Amino acid sequence: MKNQKTILSLIFVIALMSGACKMNQAQEQVKNVSSNENLVMATLYYQRAAEMKALSLQAYNIARLRLDQELSQTQDPSKLAIVLDIDETVLDNSPYEAESILKNMSYPTGWDEWIFKASAEPLPGVVEFLSYADSIKVQIFYITNRRDKYREATVKNLIEKGLPQTGESHLMFRTVESSKETRRIQVLQNHKIILLIGDNLSDFDKLFDDQPMERRSAVVDSLKLEFGKRFIILPNPMYGDWLQAIYNYDNKLTPEQKQEINYKMLKGF
Ligand SMILES: [Mg+2]
Repeated sequence: MKNQKTILSLIFVIALMSGACKMNQAQEQVKNVSSNENLVMATLYYQRAAEMKALSLQAYNIARLRLDQELSQTQDPSKLAIVLDIDETVLDNSPYEAESILKNMSYPTGWDEWIFKASAEPLPGVVEFLSYADSIKVQIFYITNRRDKYREATVKNLIEKGLPQTGESHLMFRTVESSKETRRIQVLQNHKIILLIGDNLSDFDKLFDDQPMERRSAVVDSLKLEFGKRFIILPNPMYGDWLQAIYNYDNKLTPEQKQEINYKMLKGF
């Protein structure tokens, strides 16, 4: 009798645990579906809109015009520097976003696998622009928040896609801090930075680092003459500080809480 009771209680506990496990799986499913669902249109735009291609070409055409203007005023082009971010500025990682949607995963799952494939395509216009800059000896610096463990794969990817100046001193990876200010100052020691190119405002100035949404917008207003001049910005609707700022940099929010904020942020009439 006692044995029977023990067995019954055991069955009950197992049933309860399996129920809880199923529930966790379901919650996980909802979490992944809802967070990835928002990525679908952004990634489609990035991969399929000809407008996206045109925006990238426009960015690099303006960069070329600006470079030529600077060249006409300088004796030594090797003292001039162009600073670029890598992800969604030089290399297109949208296949990673697409794969995340298709396989129902979220960052950082799969990111290492993608980076180590070293097969990201360059953004439209970037190879032509940087090859031109390289041919006239203007110095190129890639300042990226990729970690140093990705250096080899990143260099391989850049070289195979025809991007110039990928030596050690030209590729500045993230070490201690995500802010790019210290690395920009390092470039400034021996060069005049004529262009900063990126998809995230923090690629341009420390004034944008970790700032709330309203402040980011106000800083853009205060620096409005720099865009298309010293700052060249590329679109990234898939991720970035713009999205972090909407969530007040709170990475503990659940997908449901994020979705609620998304709707509250919409401006109707
Ligand atoms: Mg980027």
